[in-house]
Amino acid sequence: MLSKGTKDTLPQEWQELAQAAIEASKRAYVPYSNFQVGAALLDSTGNIHFGCNVENGAYSPSNCAERTALFRAIADGHKARSFKAIAVTGDTAEPITPCGVCRQVLSELCEPHMPVLLTNLKGDWQLTNMVELLPGAFSLIDERNMENT
Ligand SMILES: [Zn+2]
Repeated sequence: MLSKGTKDTLPQEWQELAQAAIEASKRAYVPYSNFQVGAALLDSTGNIHFGCNVENGAYSPSNCAERTALFRAIADGHKARSFKAIAVTGDTAEPITPCGVCRQVLSELCEPHMPVLLTNLKGDWQLTNMVELLPGAFSLIDERNMENT
């Protein structure tokens, strides 16, 4: 864990992204769980892409906030592994933590040491990265097929 703290100690440079994640969480479509999650992905040009969880009555088509933000940004033309940071938030007792599926997707679309800020609605936070969140991540990406990404 790189660092952690409470609302009053969140570094200034993270406050905009953390607030954007809260705003994104308010857009969640969660009629089944009522558990709103928001993600805010910072791209290489300084723009922020919102993501929220989107549930479905058939359950398995549901999508998490982190993947929504990443897929949106990729669809908008941003390159894999060009992102600068992501913040994720939800109404949890401790800073929210990404599910296993999102960790796998984050590990492929983000650089291993890209900062990941995990927060909750109380403002507790933890700063980490993909190396910490998913050590030994599965990957088919190597130098041969990097040029195709
Ligand atoms: Zn997830």
